[in-house]
Amino acid sequence: MDFHNKIVIITGASSGIGAATAESFARKSATLVLVGRNEENLKKVAKICQNVRGIQPLVIKADVNADDELKYIVKKTINAFGKIDILINNVGITSAGGIRDGIQSYDKVMSTNVRSIYLLTSLVVPYLITSKGSIVNVSSVLSRKYIREFKWLAYSVSKAALDHFTRCIALELSSDGVRVNSINPGAVKTSFFEASGLSESESEQVYKMCKKRNPLGKIVESEEVSELIVYLTSDSARSITGASFVIDNVILSTAIKVVALSSVIFIQ
Ligand code: NDP
Repeated sequence: MDFHNKIVIITGASSGIGAATAESFARKSATLVLVGRNEENLKKVAKICQNVRGIQPLVIKADVNADDELKYIVKKTINAFGKIDILINNVGITSAGGIRDGIQSYDKVMSTNVRSIYLLTSLVVPYLITSKGSIVNVSSVLSRKYIREFKWLAYSVSKAALDHFTRCIALELSSDGVRVNSINPGAVKTSFFEASGLSESESEQVYKMCKKRNPLGKIVESEEVSELIVYLTSDSARSITGASFVIDNVILSTAIKVVALSSVIFIQ
């Protein structure tokens, strides 16, 4: 797998899975566009990436909830490199709230996890059609299950929407030679739980619980997720589109993916 001269946009690249994905692409000689709000962290990730193969990433400080900043990401990338080959829609947040807790967390989470991805993807697609590129959406196993204790209702709904978005646009873009897939991780050790409002010790409790419950007896590392993402955008995965890949240390049937994709084709 060689990504020499491939332009890769990664949202949420300032930490966790996004940062690990940046490093994995850097190892394959990709040219990176790193997007996030925390510029200091983005620059740290950029430096790590540059140290790998000497290719300097473009750092773009942007809030994905601002439409003009999404347009700025695309404009700046095109001005710098003239093309886009790969889009990794990794940005994501959660916020606690069940059906009795009002609409606030729904609006916040859906805006970041679905609306921003819909808009950015629509802005990038013309360039991906030209480059015959590819998209990976970072979803979650919670698109298919609900943990009552967490009450991450909006989050689960947003990731279910993202999975179906993946399938629908995979079909829309298939004749243009653009592939679209999603990955669905279980718990990964990042700053995600703390960003959601849990304390460090509460986050540790969640990891411990997952580790105990998971048949493989461990939790997922960001690096493992990043390697799957890189694979899905590579030529080795040229026959894979509209698929969701679960990475969670748990046993889950891949048949779900096949049934879901065929239902989209059937409806069309
Ligand atoms: P992190 O909290 O480490 O990363 C989230 C990233 O999103 C950060 O880089 C953050 O950057 C960025 N971000 C958040 N809001 C905005 C915004 N409004 N504009 C721009 N960037 C934003 O968590 P993870 O790495 O774990 O999460 C990455 C993805 O993985 C998410 O989509 C999440 O849902 C998914 N996931 C995570 C799991 C886990 O257990 N960790 C499990 C399953 C899925 P900044 O602060 O610089 O804005």
